[in-house]
Amino acid sequence: MSDNGSTHQFDRRNPNKRLNMRRGKQSIHFSSSPAKHKYYSGQGQRSRLSHTVRRTKSKSYNRGPRIDRSTFLKGSAVAVAAIAGGSWFAWDHSVHVTVNGQELSVSPNYTIEDLIKRIGFKPARGNYTSVAGRVLKKDEGYEWTAYVNEQRVLPGDEFVIQDGDTIIIQDGDNRLEPHVVEYKEEEPQMKFSGPIAGTIHYISEWPQAGKEEILFGNETGEKAPGKVISKLQNLVITTATVTPQGPNQLCALTFDDGPSKYTAQYLDILKEKGVKATFFQLGENIKQFPEIEKRIVEEGHQVANHSYDHKNLAELPANEVVDEIKNTQDLIKEYSGVSTTMFRPPYGSFPNKCWWESEGYATSSIMWTHDTVDWKLPGPDALHEAATKNVKNGSIILMHDGGAPREDNVAALPRIIDTLLEQGFKLVTMEELMKADPNIPANIADGTATRPADCTWPASPDSSAEKKAKETEEL
Ligand SMILES: [Zn+2]
Repeated sequence: MSDNGSTHQFDRRNPNKRLNMRRGKQSIHFSSSPAKHKYYSGQGQRSRLSHTVRRTKSKSYNRGPRIDRSTFLKGSAVAVAAIAGGSWFAWDHSVHVTVNGQELSVSPNYTIEDLIKRIGFKPARGNYTSVAGRVLKKDEGYEWTAYVNEQRVLPGDEFVIQDGDTIIIQDGDNRLEPHVVEYKEEEPQMKFSGPIAGTIHYISEWPQAGKEEILFGNETGEKAPGKVISKLQNLVITTATVTPQGPNQLCALTFDDGPSKYTAQYLDILKEKGVKATFFQLGENIKQFPEIEKRIVEEGHQVANHSYDHKNLAELPANEVVDEIKNTQDLIKEYSGVSTTMFRPPYGSFPNKCWWESEGYATSSIMWTHDTVDWKLPGPDALHEAATKNVKNGSIILMHDGGAPREDNVAALPRIIDTLLEQGFKLVTMEELMKADPNIPANIADGTATRPADCTWPASPDSSAEKKAKETEEL
């Protein structure tokens, strides 16, 4: 067990104050520790303690409610006597604890030393070491190290035993020479993973700045790494081709640039055929067709973001890129009730810099395998051919329900659906298509992934490992 020379102990009598207790001649204080303790004053005799521990993926967990020790101890005997009225516990001042796996009843005045005697443990004393771990004086470290409900307690720390404590007593930690602590901070970068081409791109890792202690030994002059306060995590954009698993052959019909005056006819056809689709929408159109927006969602289809007004995001300044995405997300939420971070960029144009500029508001960029080229108005037969030829499990078919006259699409759509069904495909939303691929995170598939509050966005779009991702693929 290494020790950086500091013991951060919570003073249970003064919950707002963190003690930084030292032994011997050591005198260096530092304020950060990977374990963060927050105390909230509660009602009555109880206060709530929430202990968060930073783990490798920056997730924290709640320790749950606990009784504040000092108030508990002051009031416990009286309160318990009053409530329990004559039960054995009312007259028994002992506390029940678990020490190194043994369940014990001991006096509330018990110290760790008392517990060590009681369980007959003989801890080996730690050494006095340099910051790099070199032994300077053997057996001059701590006499023992205890973990009380996972919080470290060392000789000299304040400690009041409490009913229900789980205590682990170990050999003594090493004691470090006096030292100064500095911090090494590292900015996350944007990285790309997966194959060059794919049908989707998505954020697979959220960025987090790295912060590590660097210890400078006063006695030895040594320099050594200390605790990792937060682990560096780069922003990672992953490219993948949706590959559904399971018994069904799945493909997705997607309609862009709506809603429009044609969308109701699309919905009628989809309803009649009993299939679901995905609508990638423009914010400026949603406002014009609020009833259609509601109907799309009510009838089980998926809505997702296709920017506010269909500008080529690659040509916009950064603040406009984020606005195009965010404003449309807000409108989708307002008019349909759906919160989604799923996105399809206009023209399929979402170069790497756009990922950086979009600040994590878009968590996926959805491309396609089959472009019907319906913007050229090639006629229903050509649309049918383009939408149904060489369709495979995982195919994503691109059509439009807005942006131009769509009579040809309305004419072709029933035949397109019939042919795909005859070919054995199940027509599903993008969410279902992606959820059928176990490699795609579920919250990317359903568009509920959001940027974590504690994420550190990269300072620039530059990345050493940047690859030139081809933005539009014909697979
Ligand atoms: Zn479009």
